[in-house]
Amino acid sequence: MRLYLLSMNNKPSRALEIRLSQLTRLMQRISSLYNKQVGPKLKSTFGHQHCYLCHQYCASIVCQFCLDRLAEIGFGQHPSSTLDLLRNPATLKNLDTPNYDHLYAIDNYVWPLDKLILDMKFGHQSVAARALACLFMHFVYSSLRRQANTEIANSSQDACKQPLIPQLLVPVPLSNKRYWKRQCNQAQLLSEWLSKGTLIPNEAIVQRFKHTQAQSELDKQQRIENVSNAFKCDSIISVQHLGLIDDVITTGVTINAVCSAIKKRNPNVKITVWTMAITLLK
Ligand SMILES: [Zn+2]
Repeated sequence: MRLYLLSMNNKPSRALEIRLSQLTRLMQRISSLYNKQVGPKLKSTFGHQHCYLCHQYCASIVCQFCLDRLAEIGFGQHPSSTLDLLRNPATLKNLDTPNYDHLYAIDNYVWPLDKLILDMKFGHQSVAARALACLFMHFVYSSLRRQANTEIANSSQDACKQPLIPQLLVPVPLSNKRYWKRQCNQAQLLSEWLSKGTLIPNEAIVQRFKHTQAQSELDKQQRIENVSNAFKCDSIISVQHLGLIDDVITTGVTINAVCSAIKKRNPNVKITVWTMAITLLK
Protein backbone atom coordinates (compact mmCIF):
# COMPACT_ATOMS: atom_id res chain seq x y z
CA MET A 1 0.00 0.00 0.00
CA ARG A 2 2.87 2.33 0.83
CA LEU A 3 4.47 1.75 -2.58
CA TYR A 4 1.15 2.47 -4.26
CA LEU A 5 0.78 5.76 -2.41
CA LEU A 6 4.35 6.70 -3.30
CA SER A 7 3.61 6.05 -6.95
CA MET A 8 0.51 8.29 -6.71
CA ASN A 9 2.28 11.04 -4.85
CA ASN A 10 6.01 11.19 -4.25
CA LYS A 11 5.55 12.92 -0.90
CA PRO A 12 3.22 10.91 1.35
CA SER A 13 2.46 12.84 4.50
CA ARG A 14 4.09 11.88 7.79
CA ALA A 15 0.63 11.54 9.34
CA LEU A 16 -0.34 9.00 6.67
CA GLU A 17 2.81 6.96 7.31
CA ILE A 18 2.04 6.88 11.04
CA ARG A 19 -1.54 5.75 10.31
CA LEU A 20 -0.25 2.98 8.02
CA SER A 21 2.20 1.81 10.65
CA GLN A 22 -0.59 1.76 13.27
CA LEU A 23 -2.81 -0.18 10.86
CA THR A 24 -0.04 -2.73 10.24
CA ARG A 25 0.45 -3.24 14.00
CA LEU A 26 -3.30 -3.64 14.48
CA MET A 27 -3.47 -6.26 11.70
CA GLN A 28 -0.55 -8.15 13.29
CA ARG A 29 -2.34 -8.16 16.67
CA ILE A 30 -5.58 -9.41 15.13
CA SER A 31 -3.68 -12.13 13.26
CA SER A 32 -1.84 -13.21 16.42
CA LEU A 33 -5.08 -13.25 18.45
CA TYR A 34 -6.81 -15.29 15.76
CA ASN A 35 -4.00 -17.86 15.57
CA LYS A 36 -3.67 -18.25 19.33
CA GLN A 37 -7.27 -18.12 20.53
CA VAL A 38 -10.06 -17.53 18.03
CA GLY A 39 -8.78 -19.86 15.30
CA PRO A 40 -8.47 -23.00 17.46
CA LYS A 41 -11.89 -22.32 19.03
CA LEU A 42 -13.54 -21.91 15.63
CA LYS A 43 -11.82 -25.03 14.35
CA SER A 44 -12.88 -27.08 17.36
CA THR A 45 -16.45 -25.81 17.07
CA PHE A 46 -17.04 -25.99 13.35
CA GLY A 47 -14.78 -28.86 12.37
CA HIS A 48 -11.09 -29.31 11.80
CA GLN A 49 -9.50 -29.51 8.38
CA HIS A 50 -6.00 -30.57 9.36
CA CYS A 51 -4.50 -33.33 11.49
CA TYR A 52 -3.29 -31.79 14.76
CA LEU A 53 -0.10 -33.88 14.66
CA CYS A 54 1.10 -33.91 11.01
CA HIS A 55 -0.91 -30.85 9.78
CA GLN A 56 -1.96 -32.65 6.60
CA TYR A 57 -5.47 -32.15 5.24
CA CYS A 58 -7.82 -34.44 7.12
CA ALA A 59 -11.48 -34.43 8.13
CA SER A 60 -10.73 -35.71 11.66
CA ILE A 61 -8.57 -34.16 14.35
CA VAL A 62 -5.89 -36.90 14.16
CA CYS A 63 -5.48 -38.62 10.78
CA GLN A 64 -5.45 -42.38 10.23
CA PHE A 65 -1.83 -42.20 9.04
CA CYS A 66 -0.72 -40.74 12.42
CA LEU A 67 -2.85 -43.25 14.37
CA ASP A 68 -1.24 -46.13 12.43
CA ARG A 69 2.33 -44.76 12.84
CA LEU A 70 1.77 -44.23 16.60
CA ALA A 71 0.59 -47.84 16.93
CA GLU A 72 3.65 -49.02 14.99
CA ILE A 73 6.05 -47.37 17.44
CA GLY A 74 4.22 -49.01 20.36
CA PHE A 75 2.31 -45.95 21.53
CA GLY A 76 -0.87 -46.80 23.45
CA GLN A 77 0.04 -50.50 23.64
CA HIS A 78 -0.25 -52.01 27.10
CA PRO A 79 2.12 -54.86 27.95
CA SER A 80 -0.28 -56.67 30.28
CA SER A 81 -3.28 -58.58 28.94
CA THR A 82 -5.65 -56.11 30.57
CA LEU A 83 -6.09 -52.42 29.87
CA ASP A 84 -6.92 -51.83 33.52
CA LEU A 85 -3.77 -50.39 35.09
CA LEU A 86 -4.94 -51.37 38.59
CA ARG A 87 -4.31 -54.98 37.56
CA ASN A 88 -0.72 -54.13 36.68
CA PRO A 89 1.47 -54.61 39.82
CA ALA A 90 4.13 -52.20 38.52
CA THR A 91 1.60 -49.36 38.31
CA LEU A 92 -0.14 -50.24 41.55
CA LYS A 93 3.14 -50.19 43.48
CA ASN A 94 3.65 -46.49 42.76
CA LEU A 95 0.08 -45.31 43.33
CA ASP A 96 -1.53 -44.13 46.53
CA THR A 97 -3.91 -46.95 47.57
CA PRO A 98 -6.77 -46.51 45.06
CA ASN A 99 -10.18 -45.46 46.29
CA TYR A 100 -11.59 -46.29 42.83
CA ASP A 101 -12.26 -49.49 40.88
CA HIS A 102 -10.49 -49.18 37.52
CA LEU A 103 -7.83 -46.99 35.93
CA TYR A 104 -7.32 -46.50 32.19
CA ALA A 105 -4.71 -44.30 30.49
CA ILE A 106 -3.61 -43.96 26.89
CA ASP A 107 0.08 -44.23 27.74
CA ASN A 108 2.89 -42.79 29.87
CA TYR A 109 3.57 -39.05 29.68
CA VAL A 110 5.34 -39.32 26.31
CA TRP A 111 5.01 -37.60 22.92
CA PRO A 112 2.49 -36.65 21.65
CA LEU A 113 0.59 -36.71 24.97
CA ASP A 114 3.05 -34.30 26.64
CA LYS A 115 2.69 -31.72 23.83
CA LEU A 116 -1.09 -32.03 23.63
CA ILE A 117 -1.53 -31.72 27.41
CA LEU A 118 0.67 -28.59 27.57
CA ASP A 119 -1.19 -27.04 24.59
CA MET A 120 -4.50 -27.78 26.25
CA LYS A 121 -3.52 -26.57 29.71
CA PHE A 122 -1.53 -23.44 28.94
CA GLY A 123 -2.57 -22.57 25.38
CA HIS A 124 -6.29 -22.70 26.24
CA GLN A 125 -6.76 -24.99 23.27
CA SER A 126 -9.98 -26.93 23.17
CA VAL A 127 -8.70 -28.39 19.91
CA ALA A 128 -5.80 -30.08 21.78
CA ALA A 129 -8.36 -31.59 24.18
CA ARG A 130 -10.25 -32.87 21.15
CA ALA A 131 -7.08 -34.53 19.81
CA LEU A 132 -6.46 -36.17 23.22
CA ALA A 133 -10.06 -37.41 23.34
CA CYS A 134 -9.59 -38.84 19.83
CA LEU A 135 -6.46 -40.75 20.95
CA PHE A 136 -8.30 -42.05 24.04
CA MET A 137 -11.22 -43.21 21.87
CA HIS A 138 -8.85 -44.98 19.47
CA PHE A 139 -6.40 -46.61 21.89
CA VAL A 140 -8.59 -47.27 24.97
CA TYR A 141 -12.31 -46.79 24.52
CA SER A 142 -12.62 -48.92 21.35
CA SER A 143 -11.12 -51.91 23.26
CA LEU A 144 -13.39 -51.31 26.25
CA ARG A 145 -16.40 -51.12 23.95
CA ARG A 146 -15.45 -54.43 22.28
CA GLN A 147 -15.00 -56.07 25.70
CA ALA A 148 -18.36 -54.72 26.89
CA ASN A 149 -20.11 -55.97 23.74
CA THR A 150 -18.59 -59.45 24.23
CA GLU A 151 -19.81 -59.55 27.83
CA ILE A 152 -23.30 -58.48 26.79
CA ALA A 153 -23.32 -61.07 23.95
CA ASN A 154 -22.36 -63.75 26.49
CA SER A 155 -25.16 -62.50 28.74
CA SER A 156 -22.73 -62.17 31.60
CA GLN A 157 -24.50 -61.28 34.84
CA ASP A 158 -21.63 -58.95 35.70
CA ALA A 159 -22.34 -56.99 32.50
CA CYS A 160 -25.81 -56.18 33.83
CA LYS A 161 -24.88 -55.60 37.47
CA GLN A 162 -21.56 -53.84 36.89
CA PRO A 163 -21.50 -52.22 33.43
CA LEU A 164 -17.96 -51.94 32.08
CA ILE A 165 -18.58 -48.56 30.44
CA PRO A 166 -19.33 -45.62 32.78
CA GLN A 167 -22.81 -44.10 32.56
CA LEU A 168 -21.76 -40.57 33.52
CA LEU A 169 -18.49 -38.67 32.96
CA VAL A 170 -17.31 -36.30 35.70
CA PRO A 171 -14.32 -33.95 35.32
CA VAL A 172 -11.83 -33.38 38.15
CA PRO A 173 -12.52 -29.74 39.16
CA LEU A 174 -10.11 -26.82 39.36
CA SER A 175 -10.23 -24.22 42.12
CA ASN A 176 -11.83 -20.90 41.09
CA LYS A 177 -8.47 -19.16 41.48
CA ARG A 178 -6.69 -21.54 39.12
CA TYR A 179 -9.61 -21.51 36.70
CA TRP A 180 -9.42 -17.72 36.32
CA LYS A 181 -5.65 -17.93 35.87
CA ARG A 182 -5.85 -20.60 33.13
CA GLN A 183 -9.28 -19.59 31.78
CA CYS A 184 -10.22 -23.22 31.29
CA ASN A 185 -10.45 -26.51 33.15
CA GLN A 186 -8.59 -29.06 31.04
CA ALA A 187 -10.49 -32.00 32.61
CA GLN A 188 -13.78 -30.29 31.73
CA LEU A 189 -12.68 -29.89 28.10
CA LEU A 190 -11.68 -33.56 27.94
CA SER A 191 -14.93 -34.63 29.56
CA GLU A 192 -16.95 -32.67 26.98
CA TRP A 193 -15.08 -34.12 23.99
CA LEU A 194 -15.21 -37.66 25.40
CA SER A 195 -18.91 -37.20 26.01
CA LYS A 196 -19.40 -36.22 22.35
CA GLY A 197 -17.38 -39.24 21.18
CA THR A 198 -18.95 -41.85 23.49
CA LEU A 199 -22.44 -40.32 23.85
CA ILE A 200 -22.09 -40.73 27.63
CA PRO A 201 -23.49 -37.65 29.43
CA ASN A 202 -21.06 -35.48 31.40
CA GLU A 203 -21.73 -33.36 34.44
CA ALA A 204 -19.50 -31.43 36.83
CA ILE A 205 -20.87 -32.78 40.13
CA VAL A 206 -17.74 -32.15 42.22
CA GLN A 207 -16.53 -28.75 43.43
CA ARG A 208 -13.02 -27.83 44.61
CA PHE A 209 -13.79 -25.32 47.34
CA LYS A 210 -10.24 -25.01 48.68
CA HIS A 211 -7.44 -23.54 46.56
CA THR A 212 -4.44 -25.85 46.83
CA GLN A 213 -0.78 -25.63 45.93
CA ALA A 214 0.14 -27.28 42.58
CA GLN A 215 0.65 -31.02 43.28
CA SER A 216 3.68 -31.17 40.97
CA GLU A 217 5.66 -29.09 43.52
CA LEU A 218 5.09 -31.57 46.39
CA ASP A 219 6.16 -35.03 47.52
CA LYS A 220 3.61 -37.81 48.11
CA GLN A 221 2.86 -37.05 51.81
CA GLN A 222 2.58 -33.31 51.13
CA ARG A 223 0.20 -34.07 48.24
CA ILE A 224 -2.12 -36.01 50.57
CA GLU A 225 -2.23 -33.14 53.10
CA ASN A 226 -2.61 -30.57 50.31
CA VAL A 227 -5.85 -31.98 48.87
CA SER A 228 -7.32 -33.25 52.14
CA ASN A 229 -10.95 -31.98 52.34
CA ALA A 230 -10.46 -29.85 49.21
CA PHE A 231 -13.45 -31.32 47.33
CA LYS A 232 -17.16 -31.65 47.93
CA CYS A 233 -19.99 -33.35 46.09
CA ASP A 234 -23.58 -32.50 47.00
CA SER A 235 -25.22 -34.53 44.21
CA ILE A 236 -26.80 -37.92 44.69
CA ILE A 237 -26.43 -39.64 41.32
CA SER A 238 -28.77 -42.21 39.84
CA VAL A 239 -26.14 -44.21 37.90
CA GLN A 240 -24.18 -47.24 39.16
CA HIS A 241 -20.93 -46.49 37.37
CA LEU A 242 -19.18 -43.16 37.04
CA GLY A 243 -16.15 -42.19 34.92
CA LEU A 244 -13.79 -39.64 36.46
CA ILE A 245 -11.83 -37.65 33.86
CA ASP A 246 -8.35 -36.16 34.32
CA ASP A 247 -5.39 -35.28 32.10
CA VAL A 248 -2.41 -36.74 34.00
CA ILE A 249 -2.08 -38.95 37.08
CA THR A 250 1.13 -39.10 39.08
CA THR A 251 0.36 -40.53 42.52
CA GLY A 252 -3.43 -40.72 42.31
CA VAL A 253 -3.72 -38.66 45.52
CA THR A 254 -5.95 -35.97 43.96
CA ILE A 255 -8.16 -38.58 42.30
CA ASN A 256 -8.52 -40.39 45.65
CA ALA A 257 -9.64 -37.16 47.35
CA VAL A 258 -12.24 -36.56 44.59
CA CYS A 259 -13.49 -40.17 44.91
CA SER A 260 -13.85 -39.78 48.70
CA ALA A 261 -16.02 -36.69 48.17
CA ILE A 262 -18.22 -38.53 45.64
CA LYS A 263 -18.52 -41.64 47.84
CA LYS A 264 -19.58 -39.62 50.89
CA ARG A 265 -22.87 -38.92 49.11
CA ASN A 266 -22.88 -42.01 46.87
CA PRO A 267 -21.27 -44.88 48.84
CA ASN A 268 -22.22 -47.65 46.39
CA VAL A 269 -21.13 -46.04 43.15
CA LYS A 270 -18.41 -47.75 41.10
CA ILE A 271 -15.73 -45.32 39.87
CA THR A 272 -13.50 -45.78 36.83
CA VAL A 273 -10.75 -43.24 36.18
CA TRP A 274 -10.02 -42.23 32.59
CA THR A 275 -6.79 -40.26 32.33
CA MET A 276 -4.88 -39.31 29.20
CA ALA A 277 -1.40 -40.02 30.61
CA ILE A 278 0.19 -41.54 33.66
CA THR A 279 3.53 -40.51 35.09
CA LEU A 280 4.49 -42.35 38.23
CA LEU A 281 6.82 -41.11 40.97
CA LYS A 282 9.56 -43.70 41.56
ZN1 LIG B 1 -1.67 -36.85 10.94
